[in-house]
This record gives sequence, structure tokens and C-alpha cells, in this order.
Amino acid sequence: MKRLMMLGPPGAGKGTQAQKLVEAFEIPQISTGDLLRAAKRNGTELGKQAAPFMDNGKLVPDALVIGMVKERITLPDAKNGYIFDGFPRTRTQSEALDEMDVVLDHVISIEVSEPELIRRLAGRRSCKECKAVYHLEFAPPTKADTCDKCGCSPLIQRSDDQPAKIKQRLIEYAAETSPLIEFYQGKGILVQIDGEGDPKEIKKRIQSALGT
Ligand code: AMP
Repeated sequence: MKRLMMLGPPGAGKGTQAQKLVEAFEIPQISTGDLLRAAKRNGTELGKQAAPFMDNGKLVPDALVIGMVKERITLPDAKNGYIFDGFPRTRTQSEALDEMDVVLDHVISIEVSEPELIRRLAGRRSCKECKAVYHLEFAPPTKADTCDKCGCSPLIQRSDDQPAKIKQRLIEYAAETSPLIEFYQGKGILVQIDGEGDPKEIKKRIQSALGT
């Protein structure tokens, strides 16, 4: 059983690095952001309740997110562990994990400066069909505004990657989520990683810190 968590501000590269760890550890990534976006797209009750918060760069209420995670971790693919990406994001959510008897092995805190976060988020684009993610500056598609994987065009910008929403998400992170760094440090399971530079290098930093 391996339970990992990616902790860091929006744009730190939690999702990118979690995907790399999926291959290394053969356990699934559980991204609450992805689950909530899927719920929103599918028009479920949860999606409808979460949408106004997400669209304004605010955190979705704890009870909704906790219920969703509780269900997700009972699915068969999670039996040998998982990598939480973007969860927990508040103290209440981390306490809910204790109540579920979920003990995290490592919390990987990815550190990136604020100007760099803004650059990364503002340039992020994705394919509305296959969800492949690009960056106008760092990872552009071969043909402008067209998905390399499925040919879909145009690429879209997440509604919460617009400048005013980015600012709000960073404020939420500082107020609600960043206190978890000290909390997990106190538990002796925090691994701090410099999140600037080539994603392949960052992956190596994580793997060497985890001793894998
Ligand atoms: P992300 O893709 O992780 O940046 O998440 C996108 C949005 O989904 C966030 O800005 C929140 O509105 C919502 N969200 C994702 N994870 C959580 C969470 N653990 N708690 C509350 N809201 C969340």
C-alpha cells in the first residue's frame, strides 16, 4: 500500500508530476480538480453544486469534496494505494482523511515562485475533446491552436486560468492550503521539492527524495 499526496499552489506541476509517479508506482492519480471538472461537464448534482465555486477560483465546500474522495478511494484500482493531486486542500479535509483511517506515506510539496506560477497558468491551454494539456510558451502544439493527439481545434483556456481567477486561486491557496505544509512537516512526512526547471529533472528530484 502506497499513499502519496502532491501539495502545492495552482500551477506548481502537481498533475504533471503525479502522472509520472503513476507509472513509477503503478497506482492511480486521484485529482479532485479533474473529478470535479468531469462532474461539471456531466451535469451531475455534485457538478452543479461545485460549479459556481470553481468558476470563481474558490475552493469547493469541504463536505462535497470529502464525500467525492471517500467514494473514489473505494474503487478497485485504488486497492494498492493512490496519489492524491490537489487533495487535501484544507485542515478539515486532512482531518477527514484521519477519520477515514487513511495514512499518507509522503506529502510531496512542490515549490515554485509566484511570477513563475502566473506565467505557467496564464499560458496553459487544453484540448476540449481529449483533454491533452499544452502551454503556449513551454509546450506548444506542433500546429498552432490544434491538438497534436486528436487534431481538435481550437485549444481552450480553463475558465479559472484567466488572470482575475488565477489571483483568487493563489489567495485561496495561501489562506487555506499553505498551512498544511507546516502541518505535514510536523508529522515528519513532508518532502520539499524545487518545482522550477525541466519537468523530467523535477521527476528525478522527487524520485531521489523518495528513495526510488
Ligand atoms: P485544480 O485542477 O486542482 O486546480 O482544481 C480546480 C478547482 O477545483 C479549484 O480551484 C477548486 O475550485 C476545485 N477543487 C479542486 N480540488 C479541491 C479541493 N480539494 N477542495 C476544494 N476545492 C477543490
